[in-house]
Amino acid sequence: MTTFASLDLIEPLQRALKGLGYDKPTPIQERAIPPLLDGRDVLGVAQTGTGKTAAFSLPVLQHLSSEKFRGKRPIRALVLAPTRELAAQVGESFATYSGTLDIKHYVIFGGVNQNPQVRTLQRGVDVLVATPGRLLDLIGQGHITLQHVEFLVLDEADRMLDMGFIHDLRKILKLLPDDRQNLLFSATMPKTIARLAEDFLTDPVQVEVAPQSTTVERIEQQVMFTEKNNKRRLLAHLLGELDVDRTIVFTRTKHGANRLVKSLDSDGFTAAAIHGNKSQNARTKALEGFKNGTIKVLVATDVASRGIDIEGVSHVFNYDLPNESESYVHRIGRTGRAGRDGMAISFCDDSEGGYLRDIERLIGLPLTPVMDQPYHWHDAIPDQRASGMKPGSGHAGRGGGGGRRGGGGRPGGGGRPGGGRPGGPRRSGGGGGGQRRGGGGGGQRRR
Ligand code: AMP
Repeated sequence: MTTFASLDLIEPLQRALKGLGYDKPTPIQERAIPPLLDGRDVLGVAQTGTGKTAAFSLPVLQHLSSEKFRGKRPIRALVLAPTRELAAQVGESFATYSGTLDIKHYVIFGGVNQNPQVRTLQRGVDVLVATPGRLLDLIGQGHITLQHVEFLVLDEADRMLDMGFIHDLRKILKLLPDDRQNLLFSATMPKTIARLAEDFLTDPVQVEVAPQSTTVERIEQQVMFTEKNNKRRLLAHLLGELDVDRTIVFTRTKHGANRLVKSLDSDGFTAAAIHGNKSQNARTKALEGFKNGTIKVLVATDVASRGIDIEGVSHVFNYDLPNESESYVHRIGRTGRAGRDGMAISFCDDSEGGYLRDIERLIGLPLTPVMDQPYHWHDAIPDQRASGMKPGSGHAGRGGGGGRRGGGGRPGGGGRPGGGRPGGPRRSGGGGGGQRRGGGGGGQRRR
């Protein structure tokens, strides 16, 4: 069995990991740590939840600890992250993993007063975790120099490009010494990332873990078809029915997130929203409330939720299906973390059938349709699936029904009487996919 000791991690790091209760490396750690300790560049394809942060933090800490600096510490490792939440979480990981090592790290991001950041930087840090905009601001003002950087980590590079940071990244790359070790981590590997990787990695070792294994095996994934206007009621119904400890609900827009929080509040659920228009304070407060249990429902947009790593999220709801199917994998990865089971329930209205198809194509499995719920609307079922389903046929899922209780609520809850599309085509067999997960072996990889 691979252990942290057999990966040649130094004793203080091993102790820190033991203290955290990690008894063996995750697959991404097993494969990325040895080449990183050997000084190689690494291109890691892994999403949040795989242990990727430790995969890059541990070797960086080990390298940095082998050399002591007298006087003010120069920044020797730079980690770039797309969002403040992810940056803060990477910072927390450095704090936890460094244990007793004398390594100072610091996190900077925009949207907050820069003065405390500048004061800390003046005292010297070994590892700087930063979002690109604030980093360039402080470099421009002469508060940061990157000339001693030996390690560059680009974390969630795909999201960084999605968010339009490519020019900032290129500017930052120009300010770094040529002689350095580079790590690029990305959840997906579109062409733009491959090109970026070619530009700045030297002969990288490529390490890939399939996120679907977590997704597919650990998370019960359901879809419920409903009218747009009934999503609110369906959510309130499910929050009341299911054993929900802590849940994240994803909406497509910030406005939609705010509206939903109001309606949940009026239905008696403690909820808070996090999205790009919220102040840093409001986001921190929401996340803290969510962690300590005073807020049960966190309503989030995709961008704001990146990097949220909170234990014990029992359910993820896709209130709106994401239009980028990759986001689906990220969203549901918020539940079922660290080897626990989780549940992801997606709402699909009549405008979202195309998104559903894209998601199922990406993950290589159909989501389990659940029709015996009071707001079921047969017309929201995309044509091809509808032809293989009888309205009101109930839950066709993995054995045991995964924690869904009861149906009821409204009389006749299981779909419309005589449902389906009147006079609509009724193909038999064929496309009936969608009713059952299982099987699918070969289809689990992404691309
Ligand atoms: P990440 O993918 O870096 O966001 O990590 C996901 C979660 O896995 C975090 O909560 C880590 O604390 C946890 N984790 C990382 N490595 C291990 C490990 N080897 N064993 C158990 N949990 C881990």
